[in-house]
Amino acid sequence: MIRYCKWCVLPDSRPHLKLDAEGVCSACRRHNQKPSIDWTGRKIQFLKLCEEVRSRDRDYDCVIPVSGGKDSTWQVAMCLEQGLKPLAVTWRSPGRTAIGQRNLDNLISLGVDHIDYSINPDIERAFMLRTFEKAGSTAIPMHLAIFSIPLRIASAFNIPLVVYGENSASEYGGRDEDARSELLDSNWVQRYGVTQGTVAADWTDTELTARDLLAYSPPSSHTLESAGIKSVFLGHYFPWDPQTTRDAAIKSGFEIDSSGPRTGLFDYADIDDDFISLHHWMKWYKFGFTRTYDNLSLEIRNGRMTRDEAVETLRQRGDETPWEDLQMLSSFAGVSVEWLLSIAETFRSEEVWDRRPDGIWEIPGFLISEWQWS
Ligand SMILES: [Zn+2]
Repeated sequence: MIRYCKWCVLPDSRPHLKLDAEGVCSACRRHNQKPSIDWTGRKIQFLKLCEEVRSRDRDYDCVIPVSGGKDSTWQVAMCLEQGLKPLAVTWRSPGRTAIGQRNLDNLISLGVDHIDYSINPDIERAFMLRTFEKAGSTAIPMHLAIFSIPLRIASAFNIPLVVYGENSASEYGGRDEDARSELLDSNWVQRYGVTQGTVAADWTDTELTARDLLAYSPPSSHTLESAGIKSVFLGHYFPWDPQTTRDAAIKSGFEIDSSGPRTGLFDYADIDDDFISLHHWMKWYKFGFTRTYDNLSLEIRNGRMTRDEAVETLRQRGDETPWEDLQMLSSFAGVSVEWLLSIAETFRSEEVWDRRPDGIWEIPGFLISEWQWS
C-alpha cells in the first residue's frame, strides 16, 4: 500500500521520493534545509562562472534551453543581467500552444538570438507512439530532445556553458549528492531526465534509425569535456520557487493563461505545450498521483497552503483525465483516443492499484476519503 508524506501530499510511489521514519518525504526535508544554504556564496559562484565564460570571448557565452515558459524567461533575464551573450535554443514541440508562442516571442525580444529546432514530424510521431506503447510515456522523445539539442548546438557553435533552470532532483526528491550539485551531466539525465534511463540508441531499429534520432542524441561526455562545455542549473545558484520565477518572468513580459490552468494547479506553468499534460496523466496509472499533487506540495512547503486545503483542492478537482489534449494527441499521432486509453491501461501499476470485485480500480489507503472511483 502506498503511503503519503505527513507534510505534503506526495505518495512514496513517486520515483526517487523517500519517506523517513517520521513519515516526512525527502523533498520536504530538503526544502527545510534551503534557508541554511549559503545563497550569497552560491550567487558569487554564479557571478564568477559568468566572468569566466565572458573572458573566453566566444561568439556566444552560453546556450539557454528555452520552451517559452516562466522558467525560460527567468533564465534569459538572469543571464542578460550578468552581461552574458546567450543563444537561446528551443526544441519545437509539435504541440506548441498560441500562448507558448507569444511567450517565446516575448523572451526573444528581451534581447537574445534564438534557434527554434524542429524535428521531422513523421519521426517525432513514430517515436512518441513507440515510447508510449513500450514505456507508457509520450514525453521520452521530448526529454531526450531537451537534454540533447542544446548540447549539440553548444558543441557546434563552440559555446562553453549551458544554463538549465530548476534541478528536479532537488525540488521533487532525489539523492542528496544530486540535489546539491550544480552540474547537469549524462548521469543526471539518466537518473532524473524522465527518459526512464534510456538514451536514443535504445529506441532505434530499421524503422527509426540512429540517423533519424540524431537530434535526440547528445554529444558524448568525452566530446563535451574536451571542448570545455558544461551544463549547470540556475536553480542551484538562486532559490527556485515557481512563484518567484513567475513574478520575475511577468516583470519581463511573460503572459499567464487567462483561461486558467491547463494541467495541474497553476495558470502560469505547463501552458506552452498541448501534450505535456499527457505525460503527467500517465503518473496516475503508474504511481497514483498527478501534476496537481506536485504543485500543491510546493505550495504547502512554501507556506502558501495547508495540507488540509491541498487535500480539499484535490477532492474538488476529482478526475483529471485531460480529454481535450488526448483528442489533440490522437489527431497528431493518427490513433484513436480509445487506443491511447487502452495502452495507458496496460501501465496501471498493481503495486499501487487494486481491482475490486465489480471490476473498478481503486488505490488502497488513498489520500482522499470517499473518492469517486470510476
Ligand atoms: Zn513531503
